Amino acid sequence: MDKYALIWLRRDLRLHDNAAIYHALQSKYKLLFYFNFDTEILDQLENRNDARVNFIHTELQKINQQLSQLGSSLIVKHGLAQECLLQVINEYPIAKIYTNKDYEPFATSRDINCKDICESQQIEFQLFKDQVIFEENEILKKDGKPYTVYTPYMKKWRSEFNSKDHLPYSYELNSSNITQVEYQEIPSLSEIGFAESSIEIPTINLSENMLNNYDARRNFPALKATSNLGIHLRFGTISVRQAVQEALKGDDQFLNELIWREFFMQILVNFPKVESECFKPAYNNIQWLNNEEEFELWSNGETGFPIVDAGMRELKATGNMHNRVRMIVASFLVKDLLIDWRWGEAYFANHLLDYDQAANNGNWQWVAGCGCDAAPYFRVFNPIEQQKKFDPDFTYIKKWVPEFGTDAYPKPMIDHKFARIRVLETFKKALDAL
Ligand code: FAD
Repeated sequence: MDKYALIWLRRDLRLHDNAAIYHALQSKYKLLFYFNFDTEILDQLENRNDARVNFIHTELQKINQQLSQLGSSLIVKHGLAQECLLQVINEYPIAKIYTNKDYEPFATSRDINCKDICESQQIEFQLFKDQVIFEENEILKKDGKPYTVYTPYMKKWRSEFNSKDHLPYSYELNSSNITQVEYQEIPSLSEIGFAESSIEIPTINLSENMLNNYDARRNFPALKATSNLGIHLRFGTISVRQAVQEALKGDDQFLNELIWREFFMQILVNFPKVESECFKPAYNNIQWLNNEEEFELWSNGETGFPIVDAGMRELKATGNMHNRVRMIVASFLVKDLLIDWRWGEAYFANHLLDYDQAANNGNWQWVAGCGCDAAPYFRVFNPIEQQKKFDPDFTYIKKWVPEFGTDAYPKPMIDHKFARIRVLETFKKALDAL
């Protein structure tokens, strides 16, 4: 009987320009496509109509349609990753598994287990680089150690990057290189315990106007001046190679942002302790106030600081928040309210469509001042000054806080000047204690 190469799709929900598919096509096997709704991940989600699950479901349906036109089908299982993989191996004659690397600690240990299971059944399990241009060990300092500061990392990244070596993968899938299996519907959202979400997924904006004016316009939340690549890079509906090819047509700053993404990814892999601890150990001493009622006010966008409230309400309503506003709300939580950055990180993880562990953790630690190459702790964002600079005519604020300027809008929950002095003293005490 002919054996198959199993393509296990995870954060790479596309049939084109996909490293695992490209490599499997070099083998003598026909391709069979597989996806697992992993209950270990799904069970952690708080919201049963999580828009990200809905998005994955929609993208899988598109892939299944494309496969059905070639006489094949996507195999979808719902359950624990290892158990589902064993089922697939038992149901189909699999010779080898091709899948793309996922660098998050949870995924890495899942893949180690899956590899063991496969090898015990004499099935090869091979992982490919697909999610990044450069992995954690490809951009290193002269002494072979990882970079912990962004600018030299970015310079090295640029000097190592040669566009020709990182072009999108090109190949053709057809009925002679993929398995002909009976078409199967993928399980419905309700079968996997979820419901439809009303949140709209932002579409990618890589227009010439966006790319050429990115640096001048990217900080203004009222403008639609960024790419919306977040969720698409998160789940792989666009490849990083294609994103970088587009970025090369625009101004330098846009590519720099994609390099920030890789910078934080290599930090998470090379320094896995950041998952739960401060990158700079001294900051583990900070005496957070962690007031739950204040955290509620922040989460609900009722702080009385309009730029903070606009951001938090936008997040709840759309699963998105502009980068500038993410920095402002994060700074407000950590510095003005002295609430542990991990609370904010977890809240964002729950709500952001583009949630990515490395980027989220890296940016929260950056704002808190405890991360690698972080903003110095004594630089405290002033939410009023930030609003004057980045939303001067209140366009963004009015969209999300319609009662702003009326009696219905709450008074500021804290005096920013007082909060600034308090955080400087608290941080100084923690750092001096060492
Ligand atoms: P664009 O400005 O068009 O940027 C293009 C792409 O570059 C982004 O999609 C992203 O992949 C990458 N990028 C841009 N800025 C950063 C950055 N600072 N760090 C890492 N990558 C970056 N980004 C996430 O993708 N997931 C997160 O969970 C996340 N959490 C964040 C938490 C905080 C507190 C802050 C301050 C920022 C966070 N970011 C996160 C970074 C940034 O806000 C988003 O990537 C960006 O707003 C997404 O919108 P866009 O795709 O239109 O961005």
